[in-house]
Amino acid sequence: MKIPVAKPYLIEEDAQAAHDVILSGWVTQGPKVETFENEFAMYIGASNAVAVSSCTTALHLALVVAGVGPGDEVICPSMSFIATANAIVHAGAIAVFAEVGDDYNLDVAHVSTVITKRTKAVLLVHQLGMPADIDAFRELCDRRKILLIEDAACAAGSEYKGQKVGSHSDFVCFSFHPRKVITTGDGGMITVKDSEHARRLRLLRQHGMSVNDRERHASAKIVFEEYLEVGYNFRMTDIQAAVGITQLKKLDRIIEERRKIALRYHDAFRNIECLRLPLERDGYRSNYQTYSVYLNENAPIGRDELMQKLLDEGISTRRGVMTAHREKAYAGRPCAPLPRSEDLADRSIVLPLYVPMNDSEQLFVINTVRRMLQ
Ligand SMILES: *Cc1c(COP(=O)(O)O)cnc(C)c1O
Repeated sequence: MKIPVAKPYLIEEDAQAAHDVILSGWVTQGPKVETFENEFAMYIGASNAVAVSSCTTALHLALVVAGVGPGDEVICPSMSFIATANAIVHAGAIAVFAEVGDDYNLDVAHVSTVITKRTKAVLLVHQLGMPADIDAFRELCDRRKILLIEDAACAAGSEYKGQKVGSHSDFVCFSFHPRKVITTGDGGMITVKDSEHARRLRLLRQHGMSVNDRERHASAKIVFEEYLEVGYNFRMTDIQAAVGITQLKKLDRIIEERRKIALRYHDAFRNIECLRLPLERDGYRSNYQTYSVYLNENAPIGRDELMQKLLDEGISTRRGVMTAHREKAYAGRPCAPLPRSEDLADRSIVLPLYVPMNDSEQLFVINTVRRMLQ
């Protein structure tokens, strides 16, 4: 049996949606993008949603529109996918790394120790789909008069205190990369509270152009566009958006299924003493974009050896979330010691979780992991 670590849930209706757009003759940002934005905002319970080409460009654009620029510091976890820090650098600012807790999310107490006069924002990541304590960060940011921006790349459909992640802050960024719970191939979305922010995001994602090509196309009069700011090309295509619309319809079902699989892992592993399992606190609801376990010191084998042995049996795994500060791209930049981030990154292992994952596949993973750790 060959078990992948993840795979996108794409079915016939998604392929049909892309097919129909291709034959419609309008393939770049257009009516499908607008529909996808409206339906995503409605799903999240946000007032606006702006679609872009990826979560990386979503974060970059959100930071720019939030007013982050050269000389500013933005606090984020090092233990995240590297795009979190890269977006800060792309916006011209300095990424200041803070420590995370056992839930893989930023540690609010440590964050407060790295705030300086230059700190403009905290970029809060909901790592692996598990919501961070948004209220605690909101309180800190309000008190220290800094912005709170959320990287919810992995957290579409996750809930914090009964509300969807994406409904709490001024800018919340999502990813539709195939590794996430729903996909458009590549793609991103920003949920925004303020319609003025949404307007500026829409302007900047398309070259700062005053009239978009769809409006020009629909106009009976000739229209000359103006270029109001130095913008970007961060558009999502209508082909991607059409797939996003059909994927979004399935999101709740996908999350139910993912949670069932996560619960089964939980029940199977709770008595294995050397494993620490993901912790979902009261009021938190993860979409289980990833199921990552931590291997304690007392494990009979090391993390890398366990990964290799599982691969030998046909089971793909991945290391836990990376740390950016130990990568060459960030070498030589000042950084506080981050022992917990390093330990979590070095001792965590991502187990297979995808939809549909049948019982015999999951049982094979469970039994193989058990055999190697007991
Ligand atoms: C995947 C991911 C990103 C990047 O998303 P893209 O859509 O691939 O640009 C950013 N931050 C986190 C935490 C991620 O997991």
